[in-house]
Amino acid sequence: MIAVTGATGHLGRLVVDALLERGVAADQVVAVVRTPAKASDLAERGVQVREGDYSRPETLATAFAGVDTLLLVSSSEVGQRVPQHVNAIDAAKAAGVGRVVYTSAPQATTSSLILAPDHKATEEYLAASGLATTVLRNNWYTENYLDAVKQAADSGQILASVGDGRVASAPRSDFAEAAAVVLTDDAHAGKVYELTGDVAWTFDELAAAAGEVLGREVSYHRATPEEHAATLAGFGLDEGTVGFVVALDGNIRDGELATATDDLSTLLGRPTTGLVEALRAAL
Ligand code: NDP
Repeated sequence: MIAVTGATGHLGRLVVDALLERGVAADQVVAVVRTPAKASDLAERGVQVREGDYSRPETLATAFAGVDTLLLVSSSEVGQRVPQHVNAIDAAKAAGVGRVVYTSAPQATTSSLILAPDHKATEEYLAASGLATTVLRNNWYTENYLDAVKQAADSGQILASVGDGRVASAPRSDFAEAAAVVLTDDAHAGKVYELTGDVAWTFDELAAAAGEVLGREVSYHRATPEEHAATLAGFGLDEGTVGFVVALDGNIRDGELATATDDLSTLLGRPTTGLVEALRAAL
């Protein structure tokens, strides 16, 4: 049996879809979810829905029972992620799970990306667990820029403080398909994949792609970090969120998301989905 945590989230749902598309029988797929009521559609498709909350280890013991391979989708509760992931890894080990596949961040163990420390700690805990593992270091989802593209429909601008930084993104569906490939073949045990789009694009290229999808002129407004912070604060974002977003743009400016590899396209057996196509599908 293959279990997927966060199965009511954006990525988790796509992984369940991809497993079923690859021919895994629905009753061999376990959707581990925080809120089973949100997974009734999955249950209707014959997928086993089990409650599993990273913060309530007792739920994880039953959720992981009989599971051979587990996809641990990193938690979205920033600040609590490491203890939550530790709970999940401990529960997987106790339940006798054969292999844990974890969704990490680009170059997690060496990166200065502000999100990297949680992923580094999780990767290290996993490595020390003695479990067979596969690490999927996912670069950015192209969908992260969907709101920016939607705003550009009115403003004609994408404002960011990334300078000339590049992002080797791919849509979630590409990462999900790769996860399904890795989950269904134990030959991927012991591997660490740097999953990226084939092309690391600039924000001028993002603006051009947005323009193509929207059918209007869009330009990249190259803001300083200070201007970026003031703009976000003007939208009513709290100080913590403003600092987080501006710091991430600083990471992009420093090249933390700029390294494109062929790991993702190799797993997919096809090129990754390009910017225009991904944005068009997401809109
Ligand atoms: P979502 O926010 O859509 O999904 C996160 C999932 O985690 C949800 O299903 C959520 O459950 C579940 N979850 C949160 N807290 C708990 C908990 N305590 N116990 C069990 N499950 C929990 O994110 P995505 O699917 O888009 O992305 C998956 C992960 O990838 C994110 O959680 C984050 O770690 C990371 N990420 C990566 C990005 C990238 O660009 N590479 C961008 C953003 C996030 P519920 O459905 O009940 O809310």
